[in-house]
Amino acid sequence: MTSLNDLPIRDDLRGREPYGAPQLDVPYALNTNENPYPPSEALVKAIGEAVRDVAGSLNRYPDRDAVALRSDLAAFLNRDTPGAGLSWRQVWAANGSNEIIQQILQAFGGAGRTALGFEPSYSMHPIITSVSGTAWINAHRDEDFGLEAERAVAAVEEHRPDVVFLTSPNNPTGTALPFSTIEAVLSVTPGMVVVDEAYAEFRRAGVPSALTLLPRNPRLIVTRTMSKAFAMAGTRLGYLAADPAVIDALLLVRLPYHLSAVTQAVARTAMAHGAELLGSVDALRVARDDLVAWLRAEGHQVADSDANFVLFGRFADRRRVWQSMLDRGVLIREVGPPEWLRVSVGTPEEMAAFRTALKESL
Ligand code: PMP
Repeated sequence: MTSLNDLPIRDDLRGREPYGAPQLDVPYALNTNENPYPPSEALVKAIGEAVRDVAGSLNRYPDRDAVALRSDLAAFLNRDTPGAGLSWRQVWAANGSNEIIQQILQAFGGAGRTALGFEPSYSMHPIITSVSGTAWINAHRDEDFGLEAERAVAAVEEHRPDVVFLTSPNNPTGTALPFSTIEAVLSVTPGMVVVDEAYAEFRRAGVPSALTLLPRNPRLIVTRTMSKAFAMAGTRLGYLAADPAVIDALLLVRLPYHLSAVTQAVARTAMAHGAELLGSVDALRVARDDLVAWLRAEGHQVADSDANFVLFGRFADRRRVWQSMLDRGVLIREVGPPEWLRVSVGTPEEMAAFRTALKESL
């Protein structure tokens, strides 16, 4: 039997584990921050028709620059953040925001360069960074999972990274960043600043998106995804907004025709039904706040959340609690600091199952 180590694999990949959030067939999957509401029958039908429409020309490559889809995404962002005034030239799309992040690192990272983030944060930031040959610097979040502007600035000034990751709302903590921190980091970073807004649609009213900072900051990139609030994780569609020059840089590294005709058609159809897809966001926000209140009433420590998941603890043996929940059909996530667990916000039925299972597991 050949093993990985028998192969002439890159030295820096030896001994690594692949990304592996468990994908298990369980009654209650609350581990990957998906939107629990599937598309309506009407949307399923519209998607079927859209795929049918492109099926007849699948012998041809798709639009390499995905202009129609980028226009739809720009229109959505302009509604999300009035005054953003984005055109399709300021929006770029790829197969999930993970691919967006990979393209950013291919263009702005690489050998001899560094990317800095504040952990605990999204685990793929350091993974994509190092796989791109870029060195990762962890500058740590504050004790309460926030990030004070002063400390963030000090870390950037010390390391002078080529790329900085700011995640707001942050995964796995749910914490939204103070706007002042984003502005302060932008003012001192010599390289690119990526604000990962995968969960932006769940943020509390009054928290502005970093999109508002784009006009004055050509080195700012704001990433978004259709995987979370948009309830389209299976479509694999992530996107970003940035200065058109940033997109010129990404065109140098993207693979030609990276977004299939089917992906573009499905994503455009979903965008056209955006009101329906985002219709569950208000209910999920309320369910999130109820969940936080319930966990606190039960005596748990809970991180403030502006997202569709909640980080709670602390458990001396979190693996035991996680396993006991799983034995009861409820899959949550063992992620973040050692004594904490993360649960995604689900339907009322899923939340009831979570509460019962947690009580039985303690
Ligand atoms: N950013 C953050 C903060 C995430 O939590 C995730 C998914 N868990 C992603 C990006 C990637 O999502 P996708 O590739 O599905 O767009």
